[in-house]
Amino acid sequence: MAYLRKRALAHLFLSYPLTLDQWDRRQKVSTLGAELDIGAWPGSTSKTLQVIEVAKNLDIPWILPAAYYDCSTVSLELLLGEPKWNDGTIDTDIKNHILIGYQKQTNATRSQMLEFLYCDPLERCARKDVCGEVKRRLYCATQEWSVNKPLEVMVDGDWECFLGDLCGLCLEVSKVRFQNARKEFWERLPEIFGLPKWEVLVGMYGEAVDDAQAMHLGY
Ligand SMILES: [Zn+2]
Repeated sequence: MAYLRKRALAHLFLSYPLTLDQWDRRQKVSTLGAELDIGAWPGSTSKTLQVIEVAKNLDIPWILPAAYYDCSTVSLELLLGEPKWNDGTIDTDIKNHILIGYQKQTNATRSQMLEFLYCDPLERCARKDVCGEVKRRLYCATQEWSVNKPLEVMVDGDWECFLGDLCGLCLEVSKVRFQNARKEFWERLPEIFGLPKWEVLVGMYGEAVDDAQAMHLGY
């Protein structure tokens, strides 16, 4: 039992990590897909809802920020249409936390992640008009974008594709501002969904792993 719990904790930790670095690597490292024989993992809302139920039953709340984030990356129509959302196994207060966070998460895409597109021009930029116009155009274009994934709203190829006409300075500063916004969003993620802060969750994770280890060794 201790062994199974330890394995479960390890798998869940890889799929629903506690840090942004781990989140960015999770597509590669997540082993839960192979374990459960799920092709499309991570990213399956029905599986994430099952994991949320498991997290509640096994008392492993540190995976919830990432799991709630995951649920909130799909359309409301899809989320509310999930059989697991409606079968009565997920408590109303959990669903309310997810929905309240869903709205905050979606809002954060423009208010926080894309702020670098509408902040004041850089003093040191040698062609403020051109750079301002490039950013303004992209900001207009993003009105058509899906805004449910704040952490992934700009991916690697997007920078050259959409902002390649910026001067070198503005491009670099924009990337830094976006990465800083991601870090700030991640820090705030538990709070968005009404969960304890990361420090608390990380502490609980550490204790659980130690316990599982101790039980496995027969202490
Ligand atoms: Zn510039």
